[in-house]
Amino acid sequence: MSTTTVAFIGLGNMGGPMALNLIKEGFSVVCFDLQTSLTQPLVDAGATAATTAIEAVNGANFVISMLPSGAIVESLYIHDTKLLDHIAQDCLVIDCSTVAPENSRALAVAATAKNIRAIDAPVSGGVAAAAAGTLAFMCGGAEDAVEDAKAVLAVMGANVFRAGSAGAGQVAKVCNNMLLAIHMTGTAEALQLGVDNGLDPAVLSNIMLKSSGANWSLEKYNPYPGVMATTPASNNYNPGFMVKLMQKDLGLAMAAAATSSSKTPMGAMANKLYGEHSNDATCNLDFSSILKLYQNK
Ligand code: NAD
Repeated sequence: MSTTTVAFIGLGNMGGPMALNLIKEGFSVVCFDLQTSLTQPLVDAGATAATTAIEAVNGANFVISMLPSGAIVESLYIHDTKLLDHIAQDCLVIDCSTVAPENSRALAVAATAKNIRAIDAPVSGGVAAAAAGTLAFMCGGAEDAVEDAKAVLAVMGANVFRAGSAGAGQVAKVCNNMLLAIHMTGTAEALQLGVDNGLDPAVLSNIMLKSSGANWSLEKYNPYPGVMATTPASNNYNPGFMVKLMQKDLGLAMAAAATSSSKTPMGAMANKLYGEHSNDATCNLDFSSILKLYQNK
């Protein structure tokens, strides 16, 4: 059993189950969230609750954060709470939040100025993968830092990749999720076209799975209700991965494309379609509910 101390900040849908896996593995976890009630299940499992983020990082070997936005990440570490002023130099900072590459680079630069190593490590996989410890981590940062991060990331995930230097993990994440949105919208479009022309969606799915239209959305996450028993589509589109989170990631992809002057017409179209689909009633549904857009005629 390890006695390594991990400060875990941001205990929401993803951070809570990720921290729990570290506790189960024997890490000494000190946890903090602005919503204090979120620490209780972790304390019950053996963690210590801190009353501030500054208190949480005291004596930590690793600081892991799982936060909603880049503005919050920069505010916490650099501008407002100035957490970097309270983190020891031999501590490794791992930000797992999905944010813009610029936010991750700003964190890395500010950390380096204080002789602290920091990497970005956004994840692929939703709440179920966080609970199962099967997330994929896409890391950006120095090779030695990513190697050392595996001591904790391997407990929470099945795959740890190094995409490149600071910010590269975020670039990999937005590329992956832009492609996911493109093949999910394309899969929904093809399935509804078949149904509108008299085909059974299960029969059409089987045909395309063995043909050149096969893709991850069709194979693992069929958006048509009733075709696969275990998908969100067959469970009233309960997430899963919410429409509003896909919109966040597509927004980051479009911003990255603008920064690099990249042509992303398919990503822009997926972004537009999710914008049309999203409203108060749909934003918390699973992202495969984009199928409904094709059924509104
Ligand atoms: P969430 O809103 O459930 O959790 C975020 C937590 O951060 C909240 O509990 C909030 O109180 C806390 N928080 C905010 N500001 C804080 C601060 N200054 N100090 C301490 N705590 C603070 O969000 P989530 O679904 O867990 O997502 C977290 C990150 O993971 C996001 O960047 C998201 O894009 C990414 N992500 C989510 C999923 C998913 O399926 N939910 C999948 C992949 C990646």
